[in-house]
Amino acid sequence: MVEKRDDRVYRDRRQEMVEQLRRYGINNSRVLEAFLAVERHLFFDPESRDYAYDDCAFPIGCGQTISQPFTVAYMTSMLVERCPAGKILEVGTGSGYQAAILDYMGYSVYTIERIPELLKRSSEVFSVLGLKIHQRLGDGTLGWSDHAPYKGIIVTAGAPEPPSSLLEQLADNGVMIIPIGGSVGQRMTVVTRSGGRLERESFHAFAFVPLIGREGWGE
Ligand code: SAH
Repeated sequence: MVEKRDDRVYRDRRQEMVEQLRRYGINNSRVLEAFLAVERHLFFDPESRDYAYDDCAFPIGCGQTISQPFTVAYMTSMLVERCPAGKILEVGTGSGYQAAILDYMGYSVYTIERIPELLKRSSEVFSVLGLKIHQRLGDGTLGWSDHAPYKGIIVTAGAPEPPSSLLEQLADNGVMIIPIGGSVGQRMTVVTRSGGRLERESFHAFAFVPLIGREGWGE
């Protein structure tokens, strides 16, 4: 069970994290407010919580990582600028931190994770924080068709190409934020649907764990 604590030390460290994000060019006030409010340390094991506010990725077990704060802020900024509200599908729940940030910002959040242990741990944190985030175990490359279409889809693992099932579940004028590339590095990519047309734009380079599934990488 995850224990809730938010002492002054963590609050000060969150403030420092937000100042650093600002220096790195993150300037959307809704994003910065969410980073200040969401208790990132609760998404870490109790013995690792002191690392929660460092700007680096951190192991969360099962060979996976929680993305560094800058990466989460970057993806979230890309999303909020193009899709300020609505239903969002996240592929790759991991620690649950990205989903919690989106929930705080008022999105209705659906998230899929393929590793049962990570799904279980993130759902415990969501329940401690009282968050109503919809979760499912499964291959997120196939999306979650029951709740489609989504105004936004955010994929937090690196893919060879945007999965076609996810493109089909994107609403008209919806946007998908997804790192696309090889297994070593990817470019953050924005895919927008308008009418029957899909547009694709590439941005900065990142290094994500692989998106593993039927429309991603093999096991
Ligand atoms: N958003 C996460 C980052 C998680 S790292 C956070 O805030 O902590 C990427 C996650 O994607 C890992 O947990 C990995 O297990 C998961 N993943 C990889 N391929 C997947 C797939 N096809 N479906 C669902 N989850 C997947």
